[in-house]
Amino acid sequence: MGNVVTFEEILSKTRAMMPDVVERLKTLIRYPSVAFPGYPPGPVSAMADATAALLKEYGLGAVRLIDIPGGYPAVYGEIQAPAGAPTVMVYAHYDVQPAQREDGWETDPWTPVEKGGRLYGRGAADDKSGIVIAAASIRVFEGNPPVGVKVLIEGEEETTSHLDAFVAAHPDLFQCDVFIVADNGNIAVRNPALTTTLRGEVSCIVEVRTLKSPVHSGMFGGAAPDALVALIRMLATLHDAKGDVAVQGLRSGSPPAMEYPAEIYRESAGLLSGVDLVGTGPLGARLWSKPSITVIGIDAPSISAAANILIPRAAAKVSMRIAPDADPRREVHLLMDHLRAVAPWNVRVEVTEVSASFGFICPAGGPGYAAARHALETAFGGPVMEKGTGGSIPLTSVLRTAVPHAGFILWGAEDSSCSRIHGTNESVDIGDLERIIVAQSLFFSLLGNGRQET
Ligand SMILES: [Zn+2]
Repeated sequence: MGNVVTFEEILSKTRAMMPDVVERLKTLIRYPSVAFPGYPPGPVSAMADATAALLKEYGLGAVRLIDIPGGYPAVYGEIQAPAGAPTVMVYAHYDVQPAQREDGWETDPWTPVEKGGRLYGRGAADDKSGIVIAAASIRVFEGNPPVGVKVLIEGEEETTSHLDAFVAAHPDLFQCDVFIVADNGNIAVRNPALTTTLRGEVSCIVEVRTLKSPVHSGMFGGAAPDALVALIRMLATLHDAKGDVAVQGLRSGSPPAMEYPAEIYRESAGLLSGVDLVGTGPLGARLWSKPSITVIGIDAPSISAAANILIPRAAAKVSMRIAPDADPRREVHLLMDHLRAVAPWNVRVEVTEVSASFGFICPAGGPGYAAARHALETAFGGPVMEKGTGGSIPLTSVLRTAVPHAGFILWGAEDSSCSRIHGTNESVDIGDLERIIVAQSLFFSLLGNGRQET
């Protein structure tokens, strides 16, 4: 039978284990577990083993690596639910974004450094913090939590994931009452937040051709269109003069209740002083519920290869974040139709879809939601915000399809103001890490205590 412990017990147990938790996180940071193609697979596999070993030592019994066809293995373990108790499935990922000192890191990204109450290193927040949160919240109960716990730590979240197909093929493994996705966090340290919406993402490649081959710009320039100029004119129609997305018919979700503080946004984005924000309306809506469009790559001659020619072919990859409840197929076609329609001078245009993934809206009244809110509020000693996130976690909608009745809790130790996930000098606040471990443990306790419906 699982033991139900009080907030005070959880707090003192967590505090006592934090020095060890921080050391364990430092060990994990030392693995450059970049799962992108072209990066060495050794450190990724070693990281999977280290993740499994930590979970085991902290009390998760039968931990194993699950083979994910086509990709790196996932780390999986399970503790059976005490009779009548619900089961929680905790998700995090052990792969990380690439990082190198030359990108502007103050210290080596793979050598953890503790400074000013924060731990620096690639993956300190995204998402090796999620691994230690999962492990520590099991250790609080000495491996015997009052709920069933399944842990799934993926190895390909930051690159092309093969987990989606695996979930669809093995829905039984993912059956639970509540999912915790510990790959999120607060806007600012000490200010607890639940993430309740995620935008989806779609993308396409637009290619423009005007000439059979490059020709002399002095002899031919002035009448024959240049493919790059045509492409630039097309891309320029994606936004209006204020910077709002100008593709007609796209869905905008309902604006979030919480406003995103502009100072925190400017600072965390690293916006240069004097540069304006684009778009209109509340910042939270622009980031979380409305579409946004970015040109993420252009094929055109580089300046070093520039010659005095008319360019016969140019292409761009366009990525669009879509409203959390938008249909990605519909939205990507609106974007592609727009690009075809705005092509000038009857240039040849080919638009190819690259990706279309759903956003996500957390079922606010769903299983476990109220208990999670209560646990977070108690652990942080302050009111909980409900926020969106502009990023996408396509797995959430795959899990929703596999387990339609389950609740979703999206939280974690990645704070938007300082963690700089995917960027240079990534870090995690050690205090917030402790508070999230307390919150997750308390959540287990409340659920096991039958408080899940409160
Ligand atoms: Zn992540």
